[in-house]
Amino acid sequence: MIKMLDDLYEKGTIEKEPLVDLLDALDHYDEQGLYSRLQSCADAVRRKHYGQSVFVRGLIEFSNRCVQNCLYCGLRKGNQRVQRYRLSQEEVIECCRTGYSLGYRTFVLQSGEDPWYTQDKMVEIIGGIRKICPDAAITLSIGERSMAEYRKFFEAGADRYLLRHETASRDLYEKLHPFMSYEARCEHLNMLKRIGFQTGAGFMVGLPDQTNHHLADDLLFLKKLNPEMIGIGPFLPHSDTPLGNRRRGTIEKTIMMVALARLLVPDALIPATTAMETLDPKGKEKALRSGANVLMTNLSPEEVRPKYALYENKLYTDEAPECCKQYTEDQIRNAGYKIDMGRGDSLKMVNGMME
Ligand code: SAH
Ligand code: SF4
Repeated sequence: MIKMLDDLYEKGTIEKEPLVDLLDALDHYDEQGLYSRLQSCADAVRRKHYGQSVFVRGLIEFSNRCVQNCLYCGLRKGNQRVQRYRLSQEEVIECCRTGYSLGYRTFVLQSGEDPWYTQDKMVEIIGGIRKICPDAAITLSIGERSMAEYRKFFEAGADRYLLRHETASRDLYEKLHPFMSYEARCEHLNMLKRIGFQTGAGFMVGLPDQTNHHLADDLLFLKKLNPEMIGIGPFLPHSDTPLGNRRRGTIEKTIMMVALARLLVPDALIPATTAMETLDPKGKEKALRSGANVLMTNLSPEEVRPKYALYENKLYTDEAPECCKQYTEDQIRNAGYKIDMGRGDSLKMVNGMME
């Protein structure tokens, strides 16, 4: 197994069957030091490409309304117990203004799939941010839209788009997403790439009925898509959803997937996610030491943060952006890395254009 891991480290590629074997072996990670070797290989690859830098993003969760009904998510349409909110265009822009003055140069605008934010409203938000933050990157994470809308968002100045594939198993995907199709998800990711967005895919770890075969498919899906960003997080149940009583993902397995994603897509931007910290207070630091190179800080207005509950016990701070920034800086330093407040574009970007 050590040899297999070393091959993967050197070549950045692996076939499905050996990958499943490797995942099975890694589940017994205290044997042979395989798990810690994986972590150090991932850290070496990350350092080769990005050095010690950790990029910091400002996250604005601007609406918790959603027309989708993903079985795992606390914001699903069917959950009547959520107190719903929407931020106005001006409020979103204001969050970015505050963030910009604190030094943030990437804003991630995230919401449920909420058609209230029409193409025109989104263009107004993106244009408004562009005007006051000319050198900042704008990332959208608002679910599936039409090709025409994606194009308009890109033309208005959005640079990046996050749309996790969630799981690369068609069966599992369609069980978890009533009325959504796996083919459509893949097509949307391809559309985003074609338009020129730095595109983010990714998946959850520890979903009900997910096996190492599924996870191997997820990793190989990423290898093939070669996205600029990769979001991986543990599945965490929310009791007001149909999966409320299922087991949650583990931090060990999630970190394992982060490290393998780093080996397979060496130049990707990979965040240490809040969901990891919810599982383990040291979760984000562990991820940073195992291949992750991005941290997100919450810039949403304090009063809406508890309402954006994708999963239960989500860590949120009721602290002002200044304090969140300090906390993030400390986390990065404690993990042994250096904060980088720049845009933190993908290494594939040359002169502001995708290669
Ligand atoms: N509505 C948009 C963005 C918000 S959801 C979208 O779906 O793309 C952002 C991510 O949160 C999803 O991609 C999903 O992977 C994650 N998520 C949702 N519910 C979760 C849960 N219960 N546990 C862990 N991650 C969850
Ligand atoms: Fe909506 Fe996204 Fe949650 Fe699905 S994961 S219910 S699309 S917010």
